[in-house]
Amino acid sequence: MTTAMTCTRLTIYTVAGIFLQVIGLSIFVFGFFPVKPTLSGVSDLESYRDPFCDSAPNPNESELHPEKLRLLYQELSGISSKYDRLILMVIDGLPAEFVLGKDGQPPRKAWKESMPYTQSLLANGDAIGYHAKAAPPTVTMPRLKAMVSGAIGGFLDVAFNFNTQALLDDNLLGQFFRIGWKMVMHGDETWLKLFPGLFMRHDSVSSFFVKDTVQVDRNVSRHLPNELNNDDWNLLILHYLGLDHVGHTGGRNSPLMASKLKEMDDVVRTMHLKATMDHSQDEGQTLLIIVSDHGMTESGNHGGSSYEETDSLMLFIGLGSNISDYAAATNNVAFQVDLAPTLAILFGVPIPKNNVGVLVPGTLDSLRDYEQLRALELNSWQLLRLMQAQLPSSLFGGFSCNCFLYGACEGLGSDINECFGDKEKQLICLFKNAAVLHSIWKSKKLIESSSSMEDFSRALDAYNAFLKTASEWLASKTTEKPVLLLGLGVSAILLSCVVCVTLFLSLFKEVYHEPKDRVCRGSHLLNSEDVFVLAVPLIFVISMGSSSMVEEEHYIWHFMVATFYLLLLFKTAKSFDFSKGMNILRDYKLGSIFSLLISGRLLKGWHQGGVNWTYLPDISKWLEQVGSGYVKRIQLISSFIVISLGLFTLFRTRSKRKIVCVLAFGFTTCGFLILLHAWRYQDDMFEVSTVTAKLIYLLLSISAIGAALALPWSMLNKDKCFLAEAGDCLYLIGSAYTLSWCLLQLLLQQPINSVPILLLLIQILAISGLSSKDSQVNEWVKIAALYYMGMAGHFALGNSNTLATIDVAGAFIGISSHSTILSGILMFMITYASPMLFLLSLVMHIGAYLRNHSHSTISAHRDTNLGEALKLRLGFPCLVPLCINSILLTAYTVVLLLMRNHLFVWSVFSPKYLYVCATTLCTYIGVFVVAVTPKRFIFLLFLVIHAISFLETTLIGNGTCLGDGAALIVTEPANTCRSWFCGGDAVLMVLGD
Ligand SMILES: [Zn+2]
Ligand SMILES: [Zn+2]
Repeated sequence: MTTAMTCTRLTIYTVAGIFLQVIGLSIFVFGFFPVKPTLSGVSDLESYRDPFCDSAPNPNESELHPEKLRLLYQELSGISSKYDRLILMVIDGLPAEFVLGKDGQPPRKAWKESMPYTQSLLANGDAIGYHAKAAPPTVTMPRLKAMVSGAIGGFLDVAFNFNTQALLDDNLLGQFFRIGWKMVMHGDETWLKLFPGLFMRHDSVSSFFVKDTVQVDRNVSRHLPNELNNDDWNLLILHYLGLDHVGHTGGRNSPLMASKLKEMDDVVRTMHLKATMDHSQDEGQTLLIIVSDHGMTESGNHGGSSYEETDSLMLFIGLGSNISDYAAATNNVAFQVDLAPTLAILFGVPIPKNNVGVLVPGTLDSLRDYEQLRALELNSWQLLRLMQAQLPSSLFGGFSCNCFLYGACEGLGSDINECFGDKEKQLICLFKNAAVLHSIWKSKKLIESSSSMEDFSRALDAYNAFLKTASEWLASKTTEKPVLLLGLGVSAILLSCVVCVTLFLSLFKEVYHEPKDRVCRGSHLLNSEDVFVLAVPLIFVISMGSSSMVEEEHYIWHFMVATFYLLLLFKTAKSFDFSKGMNILRDYKLGSIFSLLISGRLLKGWHQGGVNWTYLPDISKWLEQVGSGYVKRIQLISSFIVISLGLFTLFRTRSKRKIVCVLAFGFTTCGFLILLHAWRYQDDMFEVSTVTAKLIYLLLSISAIGAALALPWSMLNKDKCFLAEAGDCLYLIGSAYTLSWCLLQLLLQQPINSVPILLLLIQILAISGLSSKDSQVNEWVKIAALYYMGMAGHFALGNSNTLATIDVAGAFIGISSHSTILSGILMFMITYASPMLFLLSLVMHIGAYLRNHSHSTISAHRDTNLGEALKLRLGFPCLVPLCINSILLTAYTVVLLLMRNHLFVWSVFSPKYLYVCATTLCTYIGVFVVAVTPKRFIFLLFLVIHAISFLETTLIGNGTCLGDGAALIVTEPANTCRSWFCGGDAVLMVLGD
């Protein structure tokens, strides 16, 4: 075996492969999801000048007094500002449908009746509402950024949502601050993180304690009377989180929803009455705007791009628009980014530099006609600047500074042209038309001194046509990718995939090509399950190219796993001779396979996953309809069964070690605490005991880590063969891992998910029951199957490929003060409960394999050493999940690259890619735990045994009084296990010979 790889080399190659993969993945992710804004700096006086006059020198405005700057802005813009105070009320997660209805229909009766005051404002024409379409990802932080900067953030913003950074791009609040506005904020602390030091007064609440639906809003409203009486602020931001929290805990139809809407309506009434009462003619007015950052799905989650989630609200109160009826006040559409330029124009500050929004039609009705055109012109100039940064300057060749002011621009003429051709030329043409029409209107007005209505509306339409096209083009441009970076990332990922597959194949040859060690002695190497297991990644690679297949991925996993069970059943049934009557082994195996099949079916039916058919009935919906009392009872029962099964596994090895009893005691205590927690938590949803949860975390980690550390020590003084003993130990450690993870999930997951957790545990026990001595299935096939089962379980727990199904509620159990990192870890653990469980059970599996094959392995590897054994028994099983994951990751990276211009790239493919990245992380962690556990304890064991044997042989002179473990080495040269200890370089290295 001279060409064979040593254990060390295998480790080095694997780590190198993983390292390469991580680097490639990072490069690809940062190339594909750009986070950089297009223009740096902030808009200032130049935004009131023609974009082709940018070379003109600026007065040093940083030296200007804020008040002077404000007046200068007002003078340059030529638009009189009617308002001097702004109240921005953000109702987190409020779908516009609740207030404005849908498809021209008024909102549902329950919602409409809950907001009588707001509805009366809409009916009277005092308010005008818009369905403001939010861009995905529909989570709070990127949406707030979009509202105040007008820029569509990169998709990766969602990743940073849990670790908010200050907003450095040009934005409205920064502009307001520069003209000396005083700002006050009460509510979501995201604002403080985005704008540190900008608020004169603030009282923030954490956005992540989703169980709290009452206090979180009281903390905001208690400041309202004082703030409304104060006249020291210009901008008051009130960010109410309660409605979002109501959605997260109970969905759109939560019983708490009506009262929450009523509460919001009362706030609107208080603010509106106060604002109109104080209104006197000589002073500026207060503008009241009610917005939501995003909507919510039927189940109350958000993050994706469905209509329900992107349908956010934008409601202007006191704008004095020309609204004729209720339909005109509610049937309007806009984009969320449109808020930024609209507010900038209304309050006389420059439009933020990277804004891609356009002025909301209908909000400028109260302005005079020349002011309206000027506002549109300013918006067009700002968008044109953004376009100049992305288009070749040759396209703007005909323009020069102020050329429209003094007649026609050189070579462009002053005719109005039909615009066609490619998008870039079309945009320039549209802008030219608008500018020409505007100058015609201006010159006519100057001469005739009575404006022509026809010219005005032509100019208005021309500006709107340009703005709409430009905004769309710019929004699509933000998704453009650097090709070189992407190519580099993809090639690194490809290379690492090749490394992984090569390693797998070379080890595969070593394990299965030796005739003696061939577990499957069929005439050919590959049989039906092998082919099937190999085909699964292939099927996924093909299916990933379809957006619907990505949305409904769970069907494929469930189907694959069920097919695998059937293949197992078929194979097992074929190999048995049924005429012999009762056969314990046979019945046990068949029982295992049938429990796999049944639990698999139940898991599939538990949650109707995916995107398109979530409304179909499933077991969880049915149970929730029957009543929460039943859910609670089922939760208690399944928790009890999980604990019993875990204890059964621990004692199944018939080991009489003390440590097993200690472990069993630890787990029983944990189980009891979890039962207690479940009982109390259900009674009082909002009073989660953090002490109990923390105690459970502590006990579980002590049990799992303690088992891994202490069990190898207890292996000494046993008269069994080392391998069998090590197998036993690994099996026990694996059981401890599995049980701890299951108990942790019982604590963290939604109560309804306790049964799937139990079913997953049953599956693991059943599959480990199949790895008995005369197993007909190859080891690697079983490990691959474990990976597939983990993925099927992932979907069975209610996860999907949209960000909306991530369970935020569980991520705060046991955390008393908000911590982004801890919550993130908990969220990851909840989402990847099932894949991680199956990876951890791999330790159990390797243990069982070692125990069952201890004799055959030794006979086959009489001349092998520890390094060899580690490599084949441990390295190989670890390579299988790494390999599958690497193939899927590579394939999906290529798919994402090919789909970069697909309509659903941001709504379907990108969220799926984030999940693929997270699955990769999960696989790394799982494989790391699996690889580290046996390796370190085997070395530890050798050190101890060597120490004992050294001491005793030097003291006594012979090996007769040694402990049994050491005696194996010293006194029994013929023992089969001896070759394990003394045969190879690894041991010699440890022993120091
Ligand atoms: Zn939100
Ligand atoms: Zn939310």
